[in-house]
Amino acid sequence: MAAMGYRRVLVAGGAGFIGSHLCDRLLADGAEVLCVDNFYSSTRSNIHHLLGNPRFELLRHDITFPLYVEVDEIYNLACPASPVFYQRDPVQTTKTSVIGSINLLGLAKRTGATILLASTSEVYGDPAVHPQTEDYWGNVNPIGPRSCYDEGKRCAETLFFDYRRQHDMPIKVVRIFNTYGPRMQPDDGRVVSNFVVQALNGNQLTVYGDGDQTRSFCFVDDLIDGLMAMMRTPRAVTGPINLGNPSEISVGYLAEQVMSMVGSTAGVIYEDLPTDDPRQRRPDISQAQEVLGWRPTVPLADGLARTVAWFRDNQA
Ligand code: UDP
Repeated sequence: MAAMGYRRVLVAGGAGFIGSHLCDRLLADGAEVLCVDNFYSSTRSNIHHLLGNPRFELLRHDITFPLYVEVDEIYNLACPASPVFYQRDPVQTTKTSVIGSINLLGLAKRTGATILLASTSEVYGDPAVHPQTEDYWGNVNPIGPRSCYDEGKRCAETLFFDYRRQHDMPIKVVRIFNTYGPRMQPDDGRVVSNFVVQALNGNQLTVYGDGDQTRSFCFVDDLIDGLMAMMRTPRAVTGPINLGNPSEISVGYLAEQVMSMVGSTAGVIYEDLPTDDPRQRRPDISQAQEVLGWRPTVPLADGLARTVAWFRDNQA
């Protein structure tokens, strides 16, 4: 613990969409937060409101380079997560997950910190098992355009578990499914942000494929509860544990919901489905419910309303 008795928490990727919400909540929880970010796919505006907080510190740093700081807990959320950003420099994407994790694991080993990896539902690839349980090994293309992200995260998971086996370290791995909410990047190409921005601007909503593909969308506040609950678990709990909302909807249905919420009459336009776009995705969250006592509580309509309000005030 730090001199003042605060819990010192490093959030790698702390200026990102999920990272910045985590910083907010950790500060509210009484922690001292060291936010580390290279601002590759994140923005200063996400954490601007925290800069005056004496328990908040911002460090511009790329985790593919070593970092020497003293901390009690580490959340590794650093990696561009949307295809537009992670495919722009795919080699760097793999490096961020793999070398970045090695550096943070090394830091955890030296300091004795508990370290949590924000892994992803992408480790299941285009799943042949539905809904996805943690013991499913996945159906991932190792050489496709999504591989830098998917395989990078899979290797990061390998590293976490090998550090655990080799050095007996307290590790936590969560697999995050589609998450949405305020502070999504308007240009990151994710379906929720695309649809909301398009609807607010009176444009047609771009539905890829026939819109029958499914996803399960978790509001960011729920996800943060899950991340913090995982960090609080006893040492024996390592995961991997799925975190997401099991209520599954089609992309076409999402488009209708967003249009009716915004009051848009522009309709949809159908575009090509991206390569390796999974047909369906829904987390099995039995483990999260049993081990963490966690499940999402924010209904899609409420979460979308808050997201639309934020984009209306800040971005669109
Ligand atoms: N999608 C869409 N229109 C868009 C953006 C995405 O129809 O403008 C589709 C995309 O093809 C995928 C789903 O929405 O089937 C979710 O895409 P996103 O990139 O948000 O997340 P991921 O594919 O990583 O789950």
